[in-house]
Amino acid sequence: VIQLYLPLNFLGFVYREVKHALADIEAMLGLLACPPEVEDRPGARPLVLSGGEVRFEAVRFGYDAERGILNGVDFHIPPGHTVAVVGPSGGGKSTISRLLMRFYDVDGGGILIDGQDIRQVTQGSLRAAIGIVPQDTVLFNDTVRYNIAYGRPGASADDVERAARLARIHDFIVSLPQGYGTRVGERGLKLSGGEKQRVAIARTILKAPSLWIFDEATSALDSHTEREIQDSLRAASHNRTTLIVAHRLSTVVDADEILVLDQGRIVERGHHSRLLAMDGVYAALWRRQQRPEQDFDDLPELAQCG
Ligand code: ADP
Ligand code: MG
Repeated sequence: VIQLYLPLNFLGFVYREVKHALADIEAMLGLLACPPEVEDRPGARPLVLSGGEVRFEAVRFGYDAERGILNGVDFHIPPGHTVAVVGPSGGGKSTISRLLMRFYDVDGGGILIDGQDIRQVTQGSLRAAIGIVPQDTVLFNDTVRYNIAYGRPGASADDVERAARLARIHDFIVSLPQGYGTRVGERGLKLSGGEKQRVAIARTILKAPSLWIFDEATSALDSHTEREIQDSLRAASHNRTTLIVAHRLSTVVDADEILVLDQGRIVERGHHSRLLAMDGVYAALWRRQQRPEQDFDDLPELAQCG
C-alpha cells in the first residue's frame, strides 16, 4: 500500500506544479501581450548599469506607418531623479514606457540608459534593470505571498513582508482570512485596483531595479487609496531613477521635472511651481483637478485615459 501510495502522491504533486507553471506562463503572456518580435542584435551585450541615467533623444515612433505617436521627444532623467509625463489621453504617455522597455523599436532618434543605446543591449539585461508597475496589474492565481515573491525568486518570507510593509499593503494582507496565504487573482480573492497596484509595488521593491516605471492606474481611485499608493511609491522608489506616467496631477507635484505631452510632443516642461507660473496647459489642467467637488469622471482629458 505504501509503495503504491507514494508514487501517486508524487505524481499528484508534479501535476499540480506543472499546472501552476502553465497558469503562470499564461499570465505572463497576458502581461506582456502585444509586443511584436524585437530581437537582440547579433553580438548584443548585457546592459552595464552605473547610476541608471535615461536619455530620450529626438524619439519618433508610430505603431503603424500612417500615424506618428511620438514626434520628436527629448528628455533626460539624471540618476536617482524622477520625471513625470502628463497630458491628455492618447497623447503617447504609456508609449514612452513601452519604448523604454523596448517592446518596440523607435523609428527615429534613440533611447539611452547609462550611455548605451537600448537596441545594442540584450533584452534580458534591459528588463532585469527595469521594474514596471503597469496601469493594470495582472495577478497570478496563487497566494499573495507568491505574487510578491515573484519579484525575486528565492525571497524569504521576511523579505516579502518587508517589501509589503514598504508598499503599505502589509496591514491589508494580514487582515485577510489567510493572510499571506490567501489566494488572489481570477480564481481567488479579487483585489481592488489600488490593492493590486500596491502588490505590484511590493513585487518591484523585491526586484530592486535601477529604473522604476510607474504607469498610474487610469480608473478613478478614492483619494485615500490614491494617497496610500503615492506614499508607497515615494517610499519605494526613493533615490531610484523613476519615470512616472501620471493621470492625476497630484502624483507629480514632487517630480524633479514634469513633461506635458500633447499629440506626441512635449509642449511644456519644468517643475510643478514653474509650470504653474507659466500659466499654460499644465496650469489649466491643475486648476481643473483642484476643484474638490469635481469627480474625475468629469475631466475628459487627463482622468480617463487608456
Ligand atoms: P496615453 O498613455 O497617453 O493615454 P498611449 O501611449 O497609450 O497614450 O497611446 C497613444 C496612442 O497610440 C493612442 O492613440 C493609442 O490608441 C495608440 N496605441 C496604443 N497602443 C497601440 C497599439 N498596440 N497599436 C496601435 N495603436 C496603439
Ligand atoms: Mg496610458
